[in-house]
Amino acid sequence: MTEAFLHYLWQHQMLDKRLDTTDGQPVVVIRAGDLNRDAGPDFFNARISIGGVEWVGNVEVHLRSSDWNAHRHSADKVYNNVVLHVVYEHDAEVFMEDGKIPATLELRRFVHPAVAANYEMLMSPGIDDGIPCAKRLPSVPSLVLSSWLDRLVIERIESKLEVVHRLLDESRGGWEKTCYWLLARYFGGKVNALPFELLAKATDKGLLARWRDNPHRLEAILLGQAGLLDGSFLDDYPNELQADYEALRSGAALVPIDPSLWRLFRLRPSAFPAIRISQFAALVAAAPSLFSTLLTITDVRQMEHLFDCEAAPYWNNHYHLDKPSARSCVKRLGHQQADILIINAWVPLLFAYGMAIGQQFYKDQALSLLQQLDAEDNAVVRQWCAAGIKPDNAAQSQALLQLKNAYCSGRRCLDCRIGHNIIKQSK
Ligand code: SF4
Repeated sequence: MTEAFLHYLWQHQMLDKRLDTTDGQPVVVIRAGDLNRDAGPDFFNARISIGGVEWVGNVEVHLRSSDWNAHRHSADKVYNNVVLHVVYEHDAEVFMEDGKIPATLELRRFVHPAVAANYEMLMSPGIDDGIPCAKRLPSVPSLVLSSWLDRLVIERIESKLEVVHRLLDESRGGWEKTCYWLLARYFGGKVNALPFELLAKATDKGLLARWRDNPHRLEAILLGQAGLLDGSFLDDYPNELQADYEALRSGAALVPIDPSLWRLFRLRPSAFPAIRISQFAALVAAAPSLFSTLLTITDVRQMEHLFDCEAAPYWNNHYHLDKPSARSCVKRLGHQQADILIINAWVPLLFAYGMAIGQQFYKDQALSLLQQLDAEDNAVVRQWCAAGIKPDNAAQSQALLQLKNAYCSGRRCLDCRIGHNIIKQSK
């Protein structure tokens, strides 16, 4: 038994209907009150009839009555307007600061054993890596599940808004600039997110737009700004890029970022920074006003196609400048990476835009894009599939990721609609 569970039982009145105080007075709860997570009594503004007299006031909840003394409430005037002391076990008579004895309700007499057992099952140790309620999921109505997933996907998007708002602040509300920075960040993946973001910030979007018809020069600017064109090269291609970059450098006041920021560790060669930068240059060439372009795209396949850009032909048989590779292949970003950009960058940005201008339409469009994408395939999603919940699309797989990471892993079953449904079963 935990105090959090007692709060939950009281808040949802998951108790037998016929209640009485420890001194035998019948209790009827008209209003459980508002849960207070700050200092002071646990529930404010409750309305309770005790022994036929209606009271309006606060409710304090404890595991044992003696906790009242342990928490020094007997010396605190704030607790003088407690109308009911709700405890799991009544082990001591207590007094308020004004000398009165609070009416006390002992919950252990009124909690259905099945409800307590369901909670115990959810909290039982030893299943931290999996989904603690997996065996009980089939008993949860599909409507409960689907409405919960609809809510969780929004939470998942909201959890990604912090970086959007940070970039939006830094760009002083410039949506185009934020879009360009954010997409650059996600082009870098987990490993090179920071240098990619710094690269985008160090490279004026206007300059790139000016050279939109010259992909070679775009690549030269971005690779030069990434600090990857320093030194001397043997191949013609990097020498040409270097010459292009140097020709612009002083006139455009270009200052490269620190090249030591780039990381190759644990990266597949196809995700090496120079290749990703070449692909990013191709994206900028295809849509210099990225934000305005993306706003017009409602079909996710069209968006995947735009993001699935191709690195310059030099990279077909190179992973590094001047170092030919044994295998040759066209280096496209790929649909999987394009989907990652849509899910993690564009959808949150579009959602934030809808919020900022008060247009539900854009928030719906963000959700629609997720619904059009295939569900992701990763370790967490596979756990849900093994438990019998198979997502139909990326909106549902994102919701399941949110559920596992933000609820199951922290055992927040009392805040979860599935947990709520399971706990009250057999009541
Ligand atoms: S948080 Fe919800 S889904 Fe996760 S284990 Fe608890 S009840 Fe189940």
